[in-house]
Amino acid sequence: MKTSQKSHMEIISQNEFGLVVKHETKSEKDDALSVLDSKVRRVRASSAKAICKTDSFLKMIGQKGYVDAQSQRRFDIGTMTEPLVVQWMEKDGCTVEHNSEDSIGIIIPVKGGIITGHHDVIYSHPLITGGERTLGDIKTMNDRSYKSWLAKGTKKDKPVYYAQVSIYAPVFNLQHGSIIATNKNDQTFSADFFPIDLDYRKELIEEIENNIAQEKFYIDPDGGRKIYFGKKTLCDYCSNRSNCDNAAANSHRGIVLRNHVPKLKDPKDIIDLLALLFDLSKDGSIIKPTKSLEEITQTTEYQDQDIQDENLQWNDLFNS
Ligand code: SF4
Repeated sequence: MKTSQKSHMEIISQNEFGLVVKHETKSEKDDALSVLDSKVRRVRASSAKAICKTDSFLKMIGQKGYVDAQSQRRFDIGTMTEPLVVQWMEKDGCTVEHNSEDSIGIIIPVKGGIITGHHDVIYSHPLITGGERTLGDIKTMNDRSYKSWLAKGTKKDKPVYYAQVSIYAPVFNLQHGSIIATNKNDQTFSADFFPIDLDYRKELIEEIENNIAQEKFYIDPDGGRKIYFGKKTLCDYCSNRSNCDNAAANSHRGIVLRNHVPKLKDPKDIIDLLALLFDLSKDGSIIKPTKSLEEITQTTEYQDQDIQDENLQWNDLFNS
């Protein structure tokens, strides 16, 4: 008997802001939601406010980039530190629900595509949150970054993290968000607790929708080299550096990319999209798709005279 190749996904809750789902944990690098890549335009909440627009665009079109060994070790330290921070929080009187394996996912249908992400914790503390359940993301920072965050707060100093939490919290019907950070130089840790600003979230979603709608993108392979973090630039930390280096090597052609990933025609079709790509269920009942992928997504047909040359660049960049 033929068994389904699709992985299972359970809808846990759904509101006007999005869906909370439980899905299988596939591997360290590839979460179960990556099956959505190339099927529909998808923005990860963690890159919604990425400083470099080239990086945002490349991530949206499904480019995973290349993580060098040193960057991977830095990510590994962050991953290993997270359960320790959860233990420290519990010792300090927090009640913590830890999304330890990233098996709880957030899916937000928007105009033209979806936003996805995974939160770290939902926690409460009698003093810090006044007993209120709050969505939190755990970050590991170096001394300079940690001190800057403590002095200026998440909204001003870490807009990427602020955006991420603002996107997630309302999907869980939570009114506050939090960044919990530890200083990897001396293991101090602290939490910033802030109300979710729904007007800001609405503007952010509109900004993401505008990015999703982009059909044509001009790569600036030097964009991140002008942005410094201490002595290093943004490009030094970026997984898309090799794509940008290839783009720079081919720059005599002009660097323009088309968005070949299909759009979601109507955000209301999100359930059909998920039912097509996963064994979807809710409250123990299987949900079957009622439409085909072709009916709910739309691929832009490019017919410019330039398209042949652009396709060559695309291959140079991503298939070589
Ligand atoms: S390598 Fe630099 S310019 Fe290219 S995507 Fe990354 S940060 Fe942006």
